[in-house]
Amino acid sequence: MAGIESASKQRKRVVVICGGIAGSLAAKLLQFDADVTLIDPKEYFEITWASLRSMVEPSFAERTVINHKNYFKKGHVVTSPSVNITETDVMTADGDVISNSNIVIGYDYLVIATGHSDLFPKTRQEKLSQYQSEYENIRSSKSVLIVGGGPSGVELAAEIAVDFPEKKVTLVGPRLLEFIGEKAADKAFDWLKSKKVEVILNQSVDLNSASDGNKTYKTSGAWMVKGEMVDEHLRIKDRKNVFTIGDITSILEIKQGYVAEMHANVAVKNIKVMMSGGEKKKKMSTYKPGSEMAIVSLGRKDSVAQFPFVTVIGCLPGLIKSKDLFVGKTRKTRGLNPKCVQG
Ligand SMILES: Cc1cc2nc3c(=O)[nH]c(=O)nc-3n(C[C@H](O)[C@H](O)[C@H](O)COP(=O)(O)OP(=O)(O)OC[C@H]3O[C@@H](n4cnc5c(N)ncnc54)[C@H](O)[C@@H]3O)c2cc1C
Repeated sequence: MAGIESASKQRKRVVVICGGIAGSLAAKLLQFDADVTLIDPKEYFEITWASLRSMVEPSFAERTVINHKNYFKKGHVVTSPSVNITETDVMTADGDVISNSNIVIGYDYLVIATGHSDLFPKTRQEKLSQYQSEYENIRSSKSVLIVGGGPSGVELAAEIAVDFPEKKVTLVGPRLLEFIGEKAADKAFDWLKSKKVEVILNQSVDLNSASDGNKTYKTSGAWMVKGEMVDEHLRIKDRKNVFTIGDITSILEIKQGYVAEMHANVAVKNIKVMMSGGEKKKKMSTYKPGSEMAIVSLGRKDSVAQFPFVTVIGCLPGLIKSKDLFVGKTRKTRGLNPKCVQG
C-alpha cells in the first residue's frame, strides 16, 4: 500500500467502503477529484435488481456484473471485506496480494455504503458461473418452491412463470410485497395466480423438507434495513468527514437503488465542497426523502407499480422496468456503454 500512501500526500484521500449501487457510483464520481480507494469483498459491481432475470437467462448477467476496474479506472480497488474503522483509518480483513496480510488505509473522507451483505462469489467469472448453474437447476426441476414474498420472491416467481410456463411454481410467505401497499400486493397476487403460480400466504416452510426435483429458493423479505443515523448532509452525527449512503442509512424511506444513487450524488457533492475548502462559503447539499415509488417487475413485459397516488399493473408500467430492468440506464451512469458487454 506504499503507493497509495505516497500518492495521497497531494490529494485528499477518500475511502469508499463497498461497491454496491451507492458505493460504486460515489467512487466513480469522485475518482478524478481525489485519491479514491474502493474496498469491496468482490471484484465486481452487480446491478442487483437484474439478478433474478439472470437466473432464467444467464447471459443477461454479462451486462449486469461489471468489474470495478471497468468504471473506476483511476482509483484503487482493494478486494476484501473491511473489518474495522477508526477516526483515521479503515482496516481490511485481507487484500494485500503480496504480503497476504491486513491492510490499513488512511482517509480524509470516508463513505460507508455497506447496504446488503450476503455471500457473493469473489470474481465476476465465478458469479457468471453461479447464474449458469442456477439456470440449469431451474431448467432441470419439475417444480420450484420460493420462500419469501418480498420483491425478490415475487420477481423470481414471475421470471420463472413467464420463461418456464410448464413448471409448477409455488411461492410461500407471510404476505406479498409487505414493503409497499396492499393494493400492489393484491394486484401482484392476482397476476401470479393468472400465471398458475401457487401463492401460499401466512405460512412458513421447513427448508429441510424440500424433496429432489423441487428446487427451493429463499429470498430476502423486503428492501428495509435498520441503519446508521445521518444528518441532512448524510454525515454520521459528530463525524463531519464520514458519510453514509444507500440502504444502510436510518432515513425512513423505502430502501431502493434509485434512492441509494440520490444519496451518492448528495454525498459526492458535499465531499467536493469540503475538499475545496468551501464548506463555510458554499452551501452543502441536503438530502430530503421525496415521494416514494416502487416498481416490481413481473416477467419480461409486466410490472406492478406503486406511484404516490395510484397503483397500476400490466404492460404499461412494465414498459418502464421489465424489458431491460434499468440495466442500460445504470451502466450509463457508470460511464459504460449501455448495450455492450464489458464496455
Ligand atoms: C430483487 C431486487 C429487485 C430490486 N429492484 C429495485 C428496483 O427496481 N429499483 C430500485 O431502485 N431498487 C431496487 N432494489 C433495491 C436495490 O437493489 C437496493 O436498494 C440497492 O442495491 C441498495 O444499494 P446499496 O449500495 O446501499 O447496497 P448494495 O447494492 O446492497 O451494496 C452493498 C455492497 O456492500 C458490500 N459489502 C458488504 N459488507 C462489506 C464489508 N464488510 N466490507 C466491504 N464491503 C462490504 C457488498 O459486497 C455489496 O457490494 C431491488 C433489490 C432486489 C434484491
